[in-house]
Amino acid sequence: MNPSFGTYQLAEEHEALREAVRSLAEKEIKPYAAEVDENERFPVEAHNALVKAGFAAVHVPESFDGQGADSVATCIVIEEIARVCASSSLIPAVNKLGTMPILLSASDELKQLVMPSIASGEAMASYALSEREAGSDTASMRTRAVRDGSDWVLNGTKCWITNAGESTWYTVMAVTDPNAAKKSAGISAFVVHKDDPGFSVGPKERKLGIKGSPTREIYFENCTIPESRIIGEPGTGLKTALRTLDHTRPTIGAQAVGIAQGALEAAVEYVKDRKQFGKSISDFQGVQFMLADMAMKIEAARHMVYVAAAKAERGEPNIGFITAAAKCFASDVAMEVTTDAVQLFGGAGYTRDFPVERMMRDAKITQIYEGTNQVQRVVMSRAVLNG
Ligand SMILES: Cc1cc2nc3c(=O)[nH]c(=O)nc-3n(C[C@H](O)[C@H](O)[C@H](O)COP(=O)(O)OP(=O)(O)OC[C@H]3O[C@@H](n4cnc5c(N)ncnc54)[C@H](O)[C@@H]3O)c2cc1C
Repeated sequence: MNPSFGTYQLAEEHEALREAVRSLAEKEIKPYAAEVDENERFPVEAHNALVKAGFAAVHVPESFDGQGADSVATCIVIEEIARVCASSSLIPAVNKLGTMPILLSASDELKQLVMPSIASGEAMASYALSEREAGSDTASMRTRAVRDGSDWVLNGTKCWITNAGESTWYTVMAVTDPNAAKKSAGISAFVVHKDDPGFSVGPKERKLGIKGSPTREIYFENCTIPESRIIGEPGTGLKTALRTLDHTRPTIGAQAVGIAQGALEAAVEYVKDRKQFGKSISDFQGVQFMLADMAMKIEAARHMVYVAAAKAERGEPNIGFITAAAKCFASDVAMEVTTDAVQLFGGAGYTRDFPVERMMRDAKITQIYEGTNQVQRVVMSRAVLNG
């Protein structure tokens, strides 16, 4: 027998971390989740609590005064926050998304400029890849960066930027060589600060879910930054942006698992309490089988997310398939499970008196952002066909 077989389990530290985050989330995040959604406001209570406990950006390495949490631990933090409030889970998730290009490819000087402020919670980071005309087709972006002496000057508009307006730092992908033979090789990545001249943010999008997490356009009008703010070499920006997604798709999977887990738990509590035909509806096998399927799918999704995260952590090559699969599977599960949870609540599930309708609305975005689930299937099928 393979002696390593018995080690297929989370470390004790991971389970202890889960308990700590769950306890904080129950006490300091859950009580505000419905009202944050209702009023479409940033979850300041969650942000303060996460910063205080050191959970706002757990992935930041210890060398930058961070917690140095591994990828699986980061997923557990995001999952446990999403179990009570998906909007709040975007604080650690997007801090990782916004800083991963820096951690992967930036100079030491640039890392030193940004990372300690993220670790302390003084600042948050956003990731700016998408544009109105360049969503799934990222290489078609139009935002331009032009060298001017010892500066770079950016012009253009990015859209759908999570936590824009709240973040201090923005990693921005822009075209530096419009004549590159391959469009993707003409794109570079930069770090922009909210106070840089020529940078501004637009109004909040009016969304179906994750209403506590602001999503805005960001504008660059002759936005001027020092040349040291380029991430890596010119022309490597899209590569860095896509490598980033290999590391962060598991975090979206984790968010999806957390949302689904929250919905399952709410449904279990409700069906035990609710009586029809003279008995608890949990006595009906039709209801029991729905719960069994929900729990089964969540468990499968959770394992896939942790495996994808662990492979990313170990720096394994060719993780495109597993990270896309984890994000795609977990988000499809979250959509199914939250829809079933609303169903199990009957009419009550359709009201804002219970959390499951919010969870169903929040689940939907996990099938769309960081690459739609069709795009994940493009990534997976390419890997299947090409080995
Ligand atoms: C709330 C929210 C937050 C976001 N946060 C960020 C962020 O922080 N940073 C950032 O850069 N972006 C962010 N995004 C953008 C997000 O990643 C894009 O919306 C997503 O990648 C899809 O792009 P699109 O909206 O332009 O859709 P489109 O690309 O126009 O897609 C429309 C439809 O066509 C399908 N489609 C497109 N191409 C193919 C294909 N080749 N094969 C099959 N089907 C295809 C899609 O799957 C989709 O169903 C966010 C979006 C939202 C809604």
